Formats: sequence, C-alpha cells, structure tokens
Amino acid sequence: LTQRLQNAFNGLKRKGKVSESDVRDAMREIRLALLEADVNFDVVKEFVKTVRERAVGTEVLNSLTPAQQIVKIVHDELVKVMGDAAVPLNKSPHIPTVIMMVGLQGAGKTTTAGKLAKRLVDQEKARPLMIAADIYRPAAVDQLVTIGQQLDVPVFEMGTDHDPVEIVKQGLAQAAENKNDYVIIDTAGRLEIDEQLMQELSNIKALAQPNEILLVVDSMTGQVATQVAEGFNQQLDITGVVLTKLDGDTRGGAALSIRTVTGKPIKFVGQGEKLDALDVFYPDRMADRILGMGDMMTLIEKAQTDYDQEQAENMARKIQENDFDFNDFVDQMSQIQNMGPLDEIMKMIPGMANNPALKNVKMDPKDIDHIKAIVYSMTPKERRDPDLLNPSRRRRIAAGSGRSVQEVNRMIKQFKQSRDMMTKMSKGNMNGMENMFGS
Ligand code: GDP
Ligand code: MG
Repeated sequence: LTQRLQNAFNGLKRKGKVSESDVRDAMREIRLALLEADVNFDVVKEFVKTVRERAVGTEVLNSLTPAQQIVKIVHDELVKVMGDAAVPLNKSPHIPTVIMMVGLQGAGKTTTAGKLAKRLVDQEKARPLMIAADIYRPAAVDQLVTIGQQLDVPVFEMGTDHDPVEIVKQGLAQAAENKNDYVIIDTAGRLEIDEQLMQELSNIKALAQPNEILLVVDSMTGQVATQVAEGFNQQLDITGVVLTKLDGDTRGGAALSIRTVTGKPIKFVGQGEKLDALDVFYPDRMADRILGMGDMMTLIEKAQTDYDQEQAENMARKIQENDFDFNDFVDQMSQIQNMGPLDEIMKMIPGMANNPALKNVKMDPKDIDHIKAIVYSMTPKERRDPDLLNPSRRRRIAAGSGRSVQEVNRMIKQFKQSRDMMTKMSKGNMNGMENMFGS
C-alpha cells in the first residue's frame, strides 16, 4: 500500500506541477489504500469524492510540495470525518451513570467492561458495579466475576437461570443501595445480529435507561463491522463505539466506516487482552494508521529529498553488520538535521512514538551540534571504537569539545542506545528501514 501511494506521489513530484488528472490518479490510489484498510466500499466512494473536490482547485495545484499537500488534505479529511477530537463518556447528573455494553459474541464486551471499570477506578477513584447479564454461556458470568476479582470491583450476578432484564433490575437495586457511581452492564452477544437478541437488549435498555450504550466492535472483522454497527445503531440508538483488537495488524478502516455510517463517536480503542489496554480514541492517530505506517508518506517524501540514497544503503549495511560507529552516528545526525525536527521525524516512524528507548533521548538541533563537537574531538581510533573511551579519554574529549564530562558520557550512552535500537530495527524490519531511508 505504502509503495502504491508512494508511486503515485513520485509521479506527481517528478512533474513538478500537478494537473487535475494527477489529482485524480492520486485519488485512485488513495481509494485503493482505503479499501485495503477495510473501509466500507460506499464510505470510500463518498470520502474520495469529498477529498477530490477539496483537492482540485486549491493551492495543491501550484504548491511546491503537492504530494505533501494531498496527503495532508486526505489526512485532515479523515480526521474531520472521524470526529476531530476524543469524545468523553456521557455522565448522568445523578449516580449511577449506567453504561451498557452491546455487540456480537467475541467482540470484547466482557473484557471491555472490565477495562472500563479499571479506568474509572484509576482515574476517578470510582466505585463501579458490573452486572453479568449474559446468561447464555455459563463461562460468561464466570469471566466477568473473575475480572471483577482481579480489579477488586463488585460483580452482580444471578447465575444463568434468570431473565437478563430481571438480573439488571436487581443489579440496579443493589447499586442504588450501595451508592455505586457507575453501573456497567455486560450483555450477551450472538454470532450475528438476530431478532431475539435485539429484543432482549431493547428490553434491558428500556429498563436501565443507560446514559451510554457502547457498541463493542472487533476491528479485525473489517467490512462486516460496518453492517454490524448499522444494525445495532438502528435497533438501539447506540451512543458510542469501542473498537477492539487494534493491537492486531488491522489498519483500522472500520473506524472510518462505522463513524460515517452511524454518525456515532468512537470513544475508546482496545489494544490488547490485558485490562489496562484501553485507550481514548484519537481521530488523528487513527487517520495516520488508516493511511498506513504513521505519517510515513511525509517521512518518505522528506527522506527522499534529503537523504542520500547511497549513504542510506551504506548505513543499512553497517547496521546489519553491526559496524556502526561514531562517524556514522555523526553522518546520520547531519542527515537527520537536514530533514527537520528530530523528534517530529521520529514520531512519524511506526512504533517509534512510544518506543521507550526514545523517551529519554532529547531531540534538540543544538544537541546535535554538541554531539558533533564531541565526536570531532575524538581521535579517529576512538571514533571507530567506543570501548576505548575510558574516563581519562572522556575528560580529554570534554575539554577539547568544550562540553562537560557528563555530557560526553550521556552522548556515548545515547550512541549505544541508538546503535542497539537500530540493530533491533534492522533485524525486525529491514524493509521498513529501506523504505525509510532508501528507494
Ligand atoms: P465478548 O463475547 O464480546 O464478551 O468478548 P470477550 O470480552 O469475551 O473477548 C473475546 C476475546 O477477545 C477474549 O479472548 C479477549 O481476551 C479478546 N479481546 C478483547 N479485547 C481485545 C483487544 O483489544 N485486543 C486483543 N488482542 N484481544 C482482545
Ligand atoms: Mg462476554
């Protein structure tokens, strides 16, 4: 996909100026990209139409970097459609706020109920009560009870022999008695939408008057997710969506489809099986993801212009052969300096934004100059071999470069971290590196 977009944009770039037909070509690629991300077909059609109208006749045509501008328009439009900002949970003016989880079997309702409870406890010191209203699978009740025990959050259950509406009724009574501030109702799902399920959910809704009906959707289900969302929304008038399993390799196109088709906000995303793996939904991050590989488009553009290909290949080889030394470090710093703010660049690389190795690495252009000064104060031998750098050498280098010994130490540590990180990256994802710096 990335390759495809890249080709389209290379085409644009070589010609310097963009014609209407160029924009149309790029839009065709974006259309395919969205389809590959599993965005619903009709949604794609509509989206591309909107973007094309916006793109043609704007400065894109005369822009110095048309590719960047087109990507930006596409990106902005994705963000706009998906809702601009994160939408918080609806709250009741009086306790308890009632949240009802609905969705197909296996979507992640029970897990997400637990994640939400944990979140509310952690962030608001809330005292939620969870109600086990899935009576069709004995394991479902046990599952919620176990989660409750893990979190130290009470679970109301009556086994599997009572009507779910009755269970919810008694659960709400208990919540009132115990003054719980939140009630989270875990309901049953089916393998697909059916009449009986919807009737049951409607009955629970009528009784519980939830402030929030969260539809839980498995993001891996791709195209199906759209129909599911439409169905549930028609029957229950949901108030929000939780998109689960985004830790998988899906590109998350369902987010765009569901938002477009239901008009309801996606409020949270599930990023793992653990109970802390629930995050607020940020439309701009999802736009990055749907377009593929972070802001890779922009990065590739920049990298292509500013990074010498031969040098890139050289670097890739050195990293692979574990032959990366201070000279390369400085080379790389200079190249990166030319590309723009370093922390910005790093953030565009998928997986880098949250990379713990980067947390403590300060990215300031001045730092890069200091790093260079330090390296230039090393002897050629020292530049080749960091292990030579004993305390007395470090003191000498500090004096020579006008930096403090601490700074020299820090920089050597950074160098080592950087080298380790790149070795890891190159082992895991050589293609990624080549995409980044090369071709
Ligand atoms: P329910 O039938 O809708 O209640 O779904 P469950 O909560 O029982 O989840 C079904 C399966 O999906 C379980 O194995 C969960 O651990 C898993 N699951 C739920 N949410 C996520 C998620 O965000 N990421 C991953 N990887 N697995 C999830
Ligand atoms: Mg369940």
